[in-house]
Parts: sequence; structure tokens; C-alpha cells
Amino acid sequence: SSAATETSAMIERRTRLLGPSYRLFYSNPVHLVRGSGTYLYDSDGVEYLDMYNNVASLGHAHPRVVEAMAAQAGTLNTHTRYLHEAILDYTEDLLSTMPAEIGQVMYQCTGSEANDLALRVAAAYTGGSGVIVTSEAYHGTSGLTSAVSPALGSGQTLGLEVRTVPGPDTYRTAPELVGEKLAADIRAAIADLAKHGVKFSAFLADSVFSSDGVAADPTGFLKPAFDAVHEAGGVWIADEVQPGFGRLGPRMWGFARHDIVPDIVTMGKPMGNGIPVSGMAARPEVLEPFATGIPYFNTFGGNPVAISAAQAVLDVLRDEGLPERAAVVGDQLRAAILSVGDARIGDVRGAGQFTGVEIVADPASKTPDGATALAIVNALREHRVLTSTAGPNNNVLKVRPPLSFQEHDIDRFTDALAAALADVPAR
Ligand code: PMP
Repeated sequence: SSAATETSAMIERRTRLLGPSYRLFYSNPVHLVRGSGTYLYDSDGVEYLDMYNNVASLGHAHPRVVEAMAAQAGTLNTHTRYLHEAILDYTEDLLSTMPAEIGQVMYQCTGSEANDLALRVAAAYTGGSGVIVTSEAYHGTSGLTSAVSPALGSGQTLGLEVRTVPGPDTYRTAPELVGEKLAADIRAAIADLAKHGVKFSAFLADSVFSSDGVAADPTGFLKPAFDAVHEAGGVWIADEVQPGFGRLGPRMWGFARHDIVPDIVTMGKPMGNGIPVSGMAARPEVLEPFATGIPYFNTFGGNPVAISAAQAVLDVLRDEGLPERAAVVGDQLRAAILSVGDARIGDVRGAGQFTGVEIVADPASKTPDGATALAIVNALREHRVLTSTAGPNNNVLKVRPPLSFQEHDIDRFTDALAAALADVPAR
């Protein structure tokens, strides 16, 4: 067909112009031209239900973010070497959502830069260089952060002073043991670093273990691991790039569901609803050794337009009660997915609008089935629903719609999921 010819011409042009490192979603890629709320539209005007986008977290093209940015862009856009009140107001507002111990924020444009800075801050505070991450973690694309991102695959070498621990597997581990296992694995990794003469600096982890396959419950399970990190003199860096800003419900931050107070918190993605703005918040005493020694300037980080978008995001989260609704509608969504009643759906887990659907060969063996999960993702795309996969075996569907997702969207998703499961033959 002409649509297929157009798609393949565009793919050829893309590879020629952007090079081979870029990846596309789907065997039949989607060409999007417009978004509104929870819906996306392709070049033929076909509407898709977006079950994947945690960046445009208030919904695509949210009018209050668009208006705030446009107004600021038409007034002033400079940088942090001039006084500007909005960044101060925003920082007070942001810090009011966090524990009182976390008192300062520095701004960047991407999650990678926030984590990169966090690693440097941790090293300056601890005098160490050893970093522990989970075995499927993704923390960024800079030199430092790619070296702590095993999710990049076998072509990416990890740093010599990096150790990995398995991400929590809440499906196969008894709930009361999930936290103890993570703590024991971290202690062993710290001991191995010491054995090789490396002083431990930081445990860096996504607070909901997104790329490890989503681990949300039981709440509080991070506490033993947190204690193990502190007992060894290390710092806890909570990567909130995916779970933060109410994605998991009204506690606002992933770590808050575990009653821990991290030393450093990094954030990005939903922070500006799609505008490049990210941040690193820290306990002032942890930040001090780095900050008194090394000047910091990030040309675009925290500029007035970026901050205007970030402020609009916090305002809308509050005014529309989105984290509260995410908790209610997310629980309804997880129940509805379970009631699709297919034996290949082994586990449905998550919090707020952050759900992992684990696909298995059969529920008794719990054998991961990544091939079926990938086939489901491609089938869902043909039924006009966008998702993707995660986890060590890529067998966990990441169902992570914008917070604009509502109760009336649930049937549309579960109908498409049932149809996709029917399209994918049992193996
Ligand atoms: N941390 C986590 C947990 C992420 O998911 C990502 C992006 N996928 C990053 C860091 C890096 O963020 P960015 O792409 O904005 O640099």
C-alpha cells in the first residue's frame, strides 16, 4: 500500500540522516503528528490510546503548560546567572513535597545529567567511587551514567568500580523477604568492592525499578537496603525520573512509599510535561563538599521557560488531583487487566499509573515469556494501543499511561488487550 511505502521511505531517510544508533518502536512503526490528553494521532488521523507515556504525564499538550511556557518565552528566557524569582518560588514548592531533610535543588535538562551530577556529589561526600545499581538499570546516556546502565546491553561496558544486584522480584519472592534479599545482595556487593580495594560511594536505584520489571510492593521494602547502604557509609540516590511527580499516587515520590529519606533525589521526565527540565535534590550536608569546591553552571538547566513548565506541572497535579486519581484508577485498571483472565498473564503489579504485567509460559512455572510479550506489544499497536516491555527477560508489559488516563479508558485498553492476546497464538 502507499502508506507502507511512505513508512519505509521515512525509515530509510531516518537511518541515513540520524545514523544507526536510533531505535524505533514496533515492527510496524507509528508516525505521530498530534497528541491531546491520553490520545495520540498518526499522519492518517488514526487515534491511539497512549498507555506508555510518563513524560507528558498530565496528558499530551496540556493547555496550562503550553500557556505558561508561551507566556514566559514571550517575556524572558535567560539562565541561572541572573536573579529570577520563579526558580526560587518553584524550588520552595518542590521541596514542600519532600521530607524536610532534603533542602537544596540544582537544575539540569535531562535525567542523565541529574544522575551524572548525583554521582559526582556522592563521590565528593563519601570519598569513595564504588557504585551499586540493579542488573537491568538504566540511569542515562552520559559517560558516567551509561557506565552504570546495564540495560544498554552487552555493547556497553560498566565501570570497573560498578557492581550490580538483581532487581527485586516481587512475583517470585515472598513479600516479607523482598527487602531482606535486596539488603543482603547490596552487602555482598559492598564487600566485593572492598575486596578489590574500592571504597563504596552510592547505591543508585529507580524507586520503582521500572526497567528491572516494576517492583512497587510491599511498601517499606527498601528500608533494610537503605540501612545497609548507610551502615557502610554510602549514600542513597533515589532515581525518581520515572516514579516521581505522583506517577505512583499521592505520596508523590517512589521513595516516600518506603518511608526512607534519600541523601539525593534525581528527577526528570514528567517534571515539565515534555519540556527539558530535570533536577537533583539533596541533603545540604551531602551536597556541600561538591558544591563548595566546584562551580556549577548548566546553560539551559532551570531557565525561566523550563521553570514555567515545571511550575505549571506542580500546579496542575494539585488542582486536578491527579496523583489521587491515579491511585484509584490505577487500582481499577490492574483489577480489569487481571479479569481479562488469560493464563499468560502471570502477575499484575504496580501503584498509581505505573503497572507491570508479567507475561509467562504458564502460571505454575512462572517461566518468563519475552517472545509472547513482544508479540502482544506489536498486536496492541495494531489495536491502536501503545505500550512496551521491561524486565530481565523483556516479558513485563509496561503499562504506564499519562495521569490524564481515566476510568472510561479502561475498557478500551482491556478490550484491545483481549483482542491482542487472541491474535497471539499460545506457544
Ligand atoms: N533514569 C531513569 C530511571 C530513566 O528511565 C531515564 C530515561 N529513560 C533516565 C534516568 C535518563 O533520563 P534522560 O533520558 O532524560 O537523560
